[in-house]
Amino acid sequence: MKTVKVLAFTSLFWLCACEKTEPELAVFKEQMFVMGTIIDVSIYGESEKKSQKMFHDLLKDFKYMQASWSPTRKGGLRRLNGLIALESPFTIGPGIKDMIEHSTQLSLQSEGLFNPALGKLIKLWKFSQEELPKGPPPAADAINKILAGNPKMTDLVITGLILESRTPDLAVDFGAYAKGYGVDKAIEYLKSQGVHNAIINAGGDLRAIGSKGKDAWHIGIRHPRENWAIASIKIQADESVFTSGDYERFYEYEGKRYHHIIDPRTGYPADQSTSVTVLHHNAAIADAAATALFVAGPKDWQRIAKKMSVTHVMLIDKNGKIFLTPEMQERLQFTQPESLDITVVSH
Ligand code: AMP
Ligand code: MG
Repeated sequence: MKTVKVLAFTSLFWLCACEKTEPELAVFKEQMFVMGTIIDVSIYGESEKKSQKMFHDLLKDFKYMQASWSPTRKGGLRRLNGLIALESPFTIGPGIKDMIEHSTQLSLQSEGLFNPALGKLIKLWKFSQEELPKGPPPAADAINKILAGNPKMTDLVITGLILESRTPDLAVDFGAYAKGYGVDKAIEYLKSQGVHNAIINAGGDLRAIGSKGKDAWHIGIRHPRENWAIASIKIQADESVFTSGDYERFYEYEGKRYHHIIDPRTGYPADQSTSVTVLHHNAAIADAAATALFVAGPKDWQRIAKKMSVTHVMLIDKNGKIFLTPEMQERLQFTQPESLDITVVSH
């Protein structure tokens, strides 16, 4: 694989030297497995050597983020949750402070449907662990006990770098947000290195900048129930596309599907949507909003999207009915539009 790429770059050099025409550059493509997913890094218009170096820097960064933000691995977030339980103020790092503040704001906008303070509930469902859980689902009593405590991000009070929690019954889980935040950091790094054209694709959730030469980056969106792309989208300049789906992490128990996106109102997996895709320039916002709108479902998503200032949305409900904002309709190319039930609704 590596040899092929080196050869491609060598022949490019000869093309440039002999023909003096605009060379058709190769896309540098490598992947890593980190934060529970495969992260594809694609870079266009840079040398092989520089791209390799940047890829290795990103690999180190993502490993660091994985250790810092995992609720189960030994690191920053586990420390934070452990100290919250001890009920006295403590110092936090400036990085995690930014994440808490930003996600608190998003949680408020989402009317608490995106609620990273529900770490205890997500742990109870065993969706915070890396391996996929098996049934049975948790006991109703245990779920209700956590919900009765009503943990919310505004219970975390930050003064300078000192954090105090109003309740010990709260744990932070950034599962619906950290991937987006990490992708934003990775794109920031590439931009700082002078890169204009790249994609960081974390298991289908991505942020892309620039283009692939004359062609735009093309992104496929997975059908929630079939193994093909329901639609594709052409990226313009600098955009993120994030999808929350009930097919991503789930188990079946006694014929019922239990997936990883929990409705904070009921304590159970949200059951009105199968997939929500959000397009936004910021990956962290796209990530949080996709989760929030999935929970909101076909009745409430428009109100929540408005509050979160998200304009490009596709929601597929449990019956396969597709809802689009007009802005999203303009951008999507459906693979088999004649076989789909599509409604465009303004927000
Ligand atoms: P996503 O795939 O981005 O929708 O995020 C799902 C992950 O976020 C789950 O695996 C949980 O770790 C966490 N999570 C589940 N439900 C919620 C929720 N309502 N609010 C915030 N985080 C959640
Ligand atoms: Mg999310």
